[in-house]
Amino acid sequence: MEKVKVIGGGLAGCEAAWYIANMGFKVELYEMRPARSTPAHHTDKLAELVCSNSLRSNELTNAAGLLKEEMRLLGSLIIKKAEENSVPAGAALAVDREKFSCAVTSAIQEHPLIDVCRKEEGHIPSPPVIIATGPLTSDSLSKAISELLGKEYLYFYDAAAPIITGDSIDWNIAFWGSRYNKGDEDYVNLPMTEEEYLEFYHELVNAEVHSLKEFEKPVFFEGCMPIEVMAKRGPKTLLFGPLKPVGIIDPRTGKQPYAVVQLRKENKEGTLFNMVGFQTSLKWPEQKRVFSKIPGLKDPEFVRYGFIHRNTFIMSPKFLQPWLELKATFGLFFAGQITGVEGYIESAASGIVAGVNMVRRLEGKDPIAFPLETVIGSLCHYITSADPKNFQPMKANFGILPPLEEKVKSKKERNQRLAQRSIKILREFIAANELMV
Ligand code: FAD
Repeated sequence: MEKVKVIGGGLAGCEAAWYIANMGFKVELYEMRPARSTPAHHTDKLAELVCSNSLRSNELTNAAGLLKEEMRLLGSLIIKKAEENSVPAGAALAVDREKFSCAVTSAIQEHPLIDVCRKEEGHIPSPPVIIATGPLTSDSLSKAISELLGKEYLYFYDAAAPIITGDSIDWNIAFWGSRYNKGDEDYVNLPMTEEEYLEFYHELVNAEVHSLKEFEKPVFFEGCMPIEVMAKRGPKTLLFGPLKPVGIIDPRTGKQPYAVVQLRKENKEGTLFNMVGFQTSLKWPEQKRVFSKIPGLKDPEFVRYGFIHRNTFIMSPKFLQPWLELKATFGLFFAGQITGVEGYIESAASGIVAGVNMVRRLEGKDPIAFPLETVIGSLCHYITSADPKNFQPMKANFGILPPLEEKVKSKKERNQRLAQRSIKILREFIAANELMV
């Protein structure tokens, strides 16, 4: 029987291996630890959580909670072992990290169809193979991937600006329009007076930042410099950078504002907006506090905070199908953070998508994209259809789901309905496609 190679015994690799083996196919799971470790892992266990012990909210009105429910329906190993090894954390699912990764390791090692090979894979084997080597993929495999895809399509750092919902923008202040009226309708402008700018500037340069880990330090290329670092060069620097007002006229005053923050549509539907040039290491509560000083953003709803960290990921919109298979090669899948999903559960969930579709390939069936109305499906859709020019990793959030047909004012009720819709559609999808759970 054909053996599937899964490279990387992290959250995504374990989910993929588990699904494929439970469907009756043999798996060789390659994990390079302990012989070679990453700068963030500390143990030889599979599915090690490298930082927080929280898998975030368990509530269905939160996108991370809904994603977990979807993963339960799909028979997720990671969620099952997390629940068996949970610690009290209110509405969140948090785990005893040691017990959790020991439990996943035992389940994988004891599976009769999974063979765990403790070896670094330095090249891309021929299909069937799933590459799930994570944000800290080893140098040798990174080199092989960049040779396969082109080195300009493999990223090693991630400097992301915050993304906010369109619903949280004050449209009495914000206005559409591009610099010099170039007809690009994808930008929204938030004008500032001198006084507003100076207040914002003062808060920005004095805000608290995350301290970067040693391996994350050499990040600051000019093009992705954190906004607070740029601001510290002098009070006017931002006026020649991300807050440049030149060529932008406020239709309400007919004048050029003192400074302008620009927001760019993050998705085709225009429900999410990226704060252009606002990549930042500010702590999350500080981002909320400082960025709410911007006129028009009094109460911003963040679907992703800005961050800067080491992260290996590929240009998925160019290379991957929504079922995470390389467009150019049948049977070669990517899964986990290396695809541009961001977070523990997002990575694990993408492992299920790759596993399901690997099995379909082995059975001679066509691959399937998961429904857009589900968080798992919309994440895969997002990372494979985002604008390649501005591609940045994405966490689970409700903004990437298609909106409800009806307008619902209360956010809680809207999220509840989105969750009900997702669960109903996913159940039908599982039954229609005979996904084993
Ligand atoms: P991983 O879990 O990293 O698994 C990849 C595995 O592949 C590793 O075990 C690695 O040893 C192995 N490997 C790498 N190269 C090779 C090779 N060539 N051959 C064989 N094996 C190989 N997300 C959160 O939700 N919460 C957090 O608090 C959080 N903190 C993070 C902190 C840091 C420092 C980093 C880097 C990331 C963090 N993330 C966090 C993001 C991300 O969700 C996790 O990194 C997650 O573990 C990604 O899952 P994965 O399966 O894609 O990769």
